[in-house]
Amino acid sequence: MILVIGGAGYIGSHLVKELVKKEAVIVLDNLSTGHRESIDEKAIFVQGDLGKRSDLEHVFSQYSFKAVMHFAASSLVGESVVNPQKYYENNVISTLTLLSVMLKYNVKNIIFSSTAATYGVPNLNMIDETIVPNPINPYGRSKLMIEQVLMDYATAYDLRYVVLRYFNAAGAYETAEIGESHNPETHLIPIVLQHLAGDREKVCIYGTDYKTPDGTCIRDYIHVTDLAIAHIFALNSLLENKNKEAIYNLGNGRGYTVKEVIETCEAVTGKKANIELSERREGDPARLIASSKKIFDELGWRAEKSLVEIIEDAWKWHNNQRY
Ligand code: UDP
Repeated sequence: MILVIGGAGYIGSHLVKELVKKEAVIVLDNLSTGHRESIDEKAIFVQGDLGKRSDLEHVFSQYSFKAVMHFAASSLVGESVVNPQKYYENNVISTLTLLSVMLKYNVKNIIFSSTAATYGVPNLNMIDETIVPNPINPYGRSKLMIEQVLMDYATAYDLRYVVLRYFNAAGAYETAEIGESHNPETHLIPIVLQHLAGDREKVCIYGTDYKTPDGTCIRDYIHVTDLAIAHIFALNSLLENKNKEAIYNLGNGRGYTVKEVIETCEAVTGKKANIELSERREGDPARLIASSKKIFDELGWRAEKSLVEIIEDAWKWHNNQRY
């Protein structure tokens, strides 16, 4: 049995869809940002709060878990700057409570969702895991803190972990049953698609004076299903004793500028965007592209889906949204 914390959220719910094909799954989620409807019906859902020790004890005392997969976090960079307390409490303190309960119940395997934001602003063509992290906002720092805690707990308590540093997750499940649904939405691809569907007046491009070929920021977009499958590889590596402690980037290894993403959305939908050129958004690095060579070399995973497929699936989801 596997415990998925935050399994009602965007990435967690896609992982659950894959995981239930092979494992018995319990989802713990407080539904603060996730959606009950997103949880695959083969999983057992428990509504509860990662930050409440009693909610965790309730679950850990009932079931015996081989591993925990931890997706529950606050994850908006801008919000973390103005409300860091929320980020250190939700992302750091809650995870410490989780780890304490895991150790009490002798559950020693964890897959932890981390982020490219741990790297900060590395001025490099490709970011690999040898780069020393240097986050520039509380969100990135909160994730890096837990990475460091995991290392210490591995040494002291024999905890075994895989940390996955996500680049830009996007797209939706291929059947369009589940997809990205944040409120408020801040991410580029859903914003462009909402605009092209007529739900927003325009798209703002944040910054056109970056040192990139067209002046807009470059990001590495990875299909959420590719991301979900990487978690299965990571889980298996712990359960099969191929890994004890590991950190992997998850990206496509290809970068696209904001303008290229908008053009691809226009091509996929056959609609023309109304674009406004705006100031830079605070905290945005010019270029973030992952090298995912390490996870390919060690576990054999790589991203399969292209930007066009990501946008096609996101568009199908947008047109099929139930919540
Ligand atoms: N972006 C933009 N307009 C928007 C939303 C995002 O120009 O309405 C840009 C943003 O500045 C960044 C890129 O699109 O360079 C990806 O942003 P997103 O919020 O999707 O992901 P992030 O890289 O911040 O995690």
